Amino acid sequence: MSDSDVVRQWLDASVRIVALTGAGISTESGIPDFRGPQGVWTRNPKAERLSNIHSYMSDPDVRRLAWQSRLEHPAWHATPNAGHRALVDLERRGTLHALVTQNIDGLHQQAGHAPDKVIEVHGTMREVRCMNCEWRGAMGLVLDRVRAGEHDPPCERCGGILKSATISFGQSLEPDVIDRAMRAAGHADLLLAVGTSLQVHPVAGAVPLAKGAGARVVIVNAEPTPFDELADAVFRQPIGEILPVLCLARSEDSAR
Ligand code: NAD
Repeated sequence: MSDSDVVRQWLDASVRIVALTGAGISTESGIPDFRGPQGVWTRNPKAERLSNIHSYMSDPDVRRLAWQSRLEHPAWHATPNAGHRALVDLERRGTLHALVTQNIDGLHQQAGHAPDKVIEVHGTMREVRCMNCEWRGAMGLVLDRVRAGEHDPPCERCGGILKSATISFGQSLEPDVIDRAMRAAGHADLLLAVGTSLQVHPVAGAVPLAKGAGARVVIVNAEPTPFDELADAVFRQPIGEILPVLCLARSEDSAR
């Protein structure tokens, strides 16, 4: 039996699967990751400054560049790919307990997941948040203001600094969101980590947590991760090719 057949059997036999996804699942939709060979930071290390909360809050130039980069973000024109859809198939089989994502692009929801299944530990780029009064609103409306000439649009309610509702480096995670993600990992019978370098903590800790609680761990990532040794299976193939194979129910296969 091939490795993929074995993992399909594990997925078929699991009833509380937790998927943990990262930027790699969206590269085949045209959204670059950070640390892969074509990653935003690999190609331009200065881009990291735009994701740092201290630079963002203190430097109007960083905010101006950040708004331009939001305006031009490939996510606005991206569509979910075969990797996203394979996880929706798992949900339809009723065995996906939770989908924890580090992604901010909203493509999992666009692929068809029930919104309450998706735990966005690093927030969403589809909303903005005021760093002063906590007001939240749709990103599209604020991007219209940027297009109309406001380089660094302030909060219309209090004049505070607006930012995408994402967690920048140096910013604290939402405690209830990360708690929910970790609790889900602790209850998983199989954890499927997809397209993540597993270098960002604390979310990467979901992998050893699930393993320690008795779950099988399957990693799908082109490059090595710090948890490959602990995993029960590791796949290096492109996500859009291998994930649909792994997530195909055996009953569907025999029906073909
Ligand atoms: P990362 O950039 O650190 O790692 C991505 C991993 O995916 C790499 O190891 C790469 O080898 C692998 N990969 C890329 N494309 C692949 C493919 N087609 N098939 C197989 N493997 C592939 O990403 P991360 O671990 O998610 O951490 C980066 C942080 O950046 C996260 O916090 C996330 O919020 C943010 N981010 C999000 C997006 C997004 O929402 N799409 C994009 C870039 C960065």
